[in-house]
Amino acid sequence: MTSTKLSLEEIYKLAYDSLTKNGCDDYNAQTVATTVTHAERDGSVSHGLFRIPGYISSLKSKKVKGNARPKIKLLTQNVVQVDGDYGFAPTSIKVGIPKLVEVCNKHGVGVLTIKNTHHFAALWHETESLAEKNLIGIACTAYKPSVAPAGAKKPLFGTNPISFAWPRKNKTPIVYDMATSTMAMGEVQVAARDGHKVPMGTGLNKNGEKTDNPSEIANGGVLLTFGDYKGSAIAMMIELLAAGLVGDLFSFEAKDEDNNDGGPARGGEFIIALSPDLIAGENWNEHAESFFNKMKSLDGVRLPGERRHKNRLNNSTRNINSDLVKKIKSL
Ligand code: NDP
Repeated sequence: MTSTKLSLEEIYKLAYDSLTKNGCDDYNAQTVATTVTHAERDGSVSHGLFRIPGYISSLKSKKVKGNARPKIKLLTQNVVQVDGDYGFAPTSIKVGIPKLVEVCNKHGVGVLTIKNTHHFAALWHETESLAEKNLIGIACTAYKPSVAPAGAKKPLFGTNPISFAWPRKNKTPIVYDMATSTMAMGEVQVAARDGHKVPMGTGLNKNGEKTDNPSEIANGGVLLTFGDYKGSAIAMMIELLAAGLVGDLFSFEAKDEDNNDGGPARGGEFIIALSPDLIAGENWNEHAESFFNKMKSLDGVRLPGERRHKNRLNNSTRNINSDLVKKIKSL
């Protein structure tokens, strides 16, 4: 693989220019390009420039509105709803998070439901932005089916990611952000392309048999959830929260509606914020720090989020796949 060195400013410009040339107005392009740049900055490369061709396809097919103006509504004193106006999720998140912070700081708990958006990004952006305001954040979203519920051989769940962030005073937060499938489908496709095996238990072939051959999973097979029936229960919970509770599409409904242009399907997102200041009272930070110290004292432990936050300190260029750069410039 040949790579091209790009600064973060160049990454932003590449994303912004391709979005504006293909139907995004300045506001939407700025928001999405910022999310993409932050993903490259942190080394979340599967959700950085890699996603731009898909973003552009969905603008070209007019599935996604490049001039969306999400609208905010208070459903109760501490439940905020954002209607995304069929735009990309980062625009709705930008509108909803400040209001979520406000209601959570007042009531201790706040809920943000986002509907009628197209999510193609990592979820740590939203949970981490809550932790930066001294709040705990949990977010989840559903996607088109590629994962079988425990016991089944056919897909029903999306790779359904969930993220959690815990604030720390004067330190970067603890953040985990993970798909509930054994592996992201993109990684299975890369393993197939490169001729690598995947661990047994990653997925099933088209006959419903366990396989370590990624091509058999990607072509007519299915992924499994992590941790067998336990991960399956969490993936199911995410369907219920992000679709059932938010009032948007379940993964199977998103598939039925989607035009398969390669861009993100429509769906919802569920976000909850909790205030440790109001719920735990004084010293919650010191108390949690003693727990993190205990964890870190065990050999081999690292805290989730540390890898990204370390990458973030690097101000130099990032190595971007040259074919991808060429492809984005041609769009
Ligand atoms: P990974 O398996 O790479 O990582 C999951 C989490 O585990 C991360 O928070 C990571 O922290 C942490 N972690 C990894 N290794 C360790 C370790 N040794 N010790 C402690 N913590 C560790 O993520 P996934 O492949 O499951 O998901 C990748 C991304 O895909 C997510 O950002 C998710 O939001 C996104 N996604 C988005 C979808 C959408 O529809 N929008 C659909 C599916 C996935 P760290 O970051 O520090 O490495």
